[in-house]
Amino acid sequence: MEVVEKATALLEQYPLCDYCLGRQFSMLGHGLTNGDRGKAIKRLLVLEGSRLLLEKDEAGETLLRRVAVNGFSEVSFSTLQALGVEVELEETSCYLCGSAFTGLDGLCEKVVERLSSYEFNSFLVGVRAGVRVEDREDELRARFKVIWGESIRSDFSREIGKRVMNAMGKVVVFKRPDILVTINPFTENISLKVNSLFVYGRYRKLVRGIPQAKWVCSQCGGLGCEKCQNTGKLYPDSVEELISQPLLQATAGSDVKIHAAGREDIDARVLGSGRPFIIEIVNPVKRSVNLRFLEKEINSTSEGKIEVEHLEFSSKDLVRKLKAGEGAEKVYRAKVEFEENVSDEALSLLEETMKQIVIYQKTPTRVMHRRAHKLRKRRILKLKVKRLNPILIEMLLRCEGGLYIKEFISGDGGRTSLSVSEATMIPARCVELDVMNVCLEEFN
Ligand SMILES: [Zn+2]
Ligand SMILES: [Zn+2]
Repeated sequence: MEVVEKATALLEQYPLCDYCLGRQFSMLGHGLTNGDRGKAIKRLLVLEGSRLLLEKDEAGETLLRRVAVNGFSEVSFSTLQALGVEVELEETSCYLCGSAFTGLDGLCEKVVERLSSYEFNSFLVGVRAGVRVEDREDELRARFKVIWGESIRSDFSREIGKRVMNAMGKVVVFKRPDILVTINPFTENISLKVNSLFVYGRYRKLVRGIPQAKWVCSQCGGLGCEKCQNTGKLYPDSVEELISQPLLQATAGSDVKIHAAGREDIDARVLGSGRPFIIEIVNPVKRSVNLRFLEKEINSTSEGKIEVEHLEFSSKDLVRKLKAGEGAEKVYRAKVEFEENVSDEALSLLEETMKQIVIYQKTPTRVMHRRAHKLRKRRILKLKVKRLNPILIEMLLRCEGGLYIKEFISGDGGRTSLSVSEATMIPARCVELDVMNVCLEEFN
C-alpha cells in the first residue's frame, strides 16, 4: 500500500505536521483538507503500529514512536502510554512549514482584523512563502518520488482564504477582487492592496474657466508658492475636484483620478448630454455608497459650475473603452467672429463646402510646446450656421473627435486647412465654444 509506505518513510526522515504530510497526497480524495489527509494517514499508521505491537512485533513500537514524535500525533502518544511504553516528546517543528500551519488560526485573526477596517465584498489571498521553503519541498518530493502533491503556497492561500471567508462572510474571487491580501505565513507580514472604486457618469460644465483635471502650479509643483497663492494649483476649481470631493469623503479614499472621453479647453463649456467620465477612487475604505444621494450632493455643492448625472458603479475595463472614446464624434456650438461683414452667400458656401470634408491639421501653435508635431486628419460631418449680426455667427458642428475647433475656425496661420477663414476668405476667430454632445453609443 503505497500511501502508507511513503508516509512511513517520510516520517522516518522528517517531522511533518498534518498539513505538510497530507499535502504530499493532496490529489487523492475529495472534500478533504490536507490537514484531514495527514491526520487520517497518521491514524492509520497508529492502527498498524498497534497491531504489530500486539503481535509482539517490535516494528510496531518504532512506528508508533515515529508517528508520536515526528508526526506530532497525540493519538500515537496516548496509544503508547496505554500500552505501557514510555515515550518522551522532543521539541521539534515541522520540517516544511516550521509549524506555521498550526498557527494559522492566529494569523487569520490578524488578517481579519486588518480587513475589518474596510468595506468590501470580495478578496483574494496571495502567499509569499519564500524560495527556500519551496526548494525544500521540491527536494523532498524528488527524493521520495511524491507525485500527488500540491504547492505549499496554494495550500496556505486556500486555508487562509477559507478561514477569512468563514469569519467575515466575504467571497474569494480570482479576477479583480476588492482587496488582495498578500501574506507571508512565516514572518506573519500582511499587506493589503485595495482595488480602486470606479464611478461612471456624465458631466456638464456650465461656466468657462474651469479645467477638467486639477492643474498643478508649474512653479512650485503643488507645494504652494506666491504665484498660486499657496494653493498649489493654477485654478481654484476643476471638474475633477468638484465631482470627486463628495465621492472622496463618502468612500474615505486616499486619492482620485478622472478618466474621460476627451477633454475640452478651459474656456469651453460642456452642455447638452454632457461628457462621459469615470472617477477612480484610490484605496476606498467604503464601497457601498449611495450614488443617487452623492449625485445630488455634487450638484448642489457645485451649483452653477458643473452638473453630473447617471452616476453608476463601473470598472477598470470601462475606463479603457471610455478612453478609446476620445475619437468619438462630437457636436460643438461655436460663436465665430469675422474681421469684416460676412455675406449670406459666403455663409451658404461655407455650409456647402464643409459637408463630409476631411480637415488637415498640423499641431496647433498654442499646444506645440507640449504636443508632438504631427498631421491630423479629421472629418467634418455637418456644419450649420446662424447669423447673429453682420460679423458674428453661431455655428453648429458635428465632427470626428480630436479636431481642434479653434484652429478649424481661424486656420492657425495656414496650419489647418480647410478652415472657416479660408473658406469664406475672411479672417475669423472662435469667441465662444461649447461641447454639445460626445457621441459614445456604449455610454449613452
Ligand atoms: Zn507543516
Ligand atoms: Zn505654486
